[in-house]
Amino acid sequence: MLKRLYAARHVTDAHLVRGHLESCGIAATIRGEWLAGGIGELPLDACSLWVDEARFSEAEQALRDLLSAPADRGLWTCPRCGETAGNQFSACWQCGAEKPAQAGGDSSPSTA
Ligand SMILES: [Zn+2]
Repeated sequence: MLKRLYAARHVTDAHLVRGHLESCGIAATIRGEWLAGGIGELPLDACSLWVDEARFSEAEQALRDLLSAPADRGLWTCPRCGETAGNQFSACWQCGAEKPAQAGGDSSPSTA
């Protein structure tokens, strides 16, 4: 019996969470993403992540870990070469461009 764990903002988000759960040994099913291609009326972001009821609390814990992990929130994209780097880097490892001030955005709502 599957139970809904997480309502994803978009397909990429669902895949990110599923990948994390699978790395924790928990199988997860994404529902909804294929409907967007098949029917065409449903929005792409209408997808959710389902896990077996027996693993639900484990999955919930894994999800919490993922959502609170700074590494997953702090990714930024290099404005010069488009490379993705973690927030712990203050410059692009690929081309050396400095991290843009607004990078990593939503984790710090403070305004300067
Ligand atoms: Zn770069």
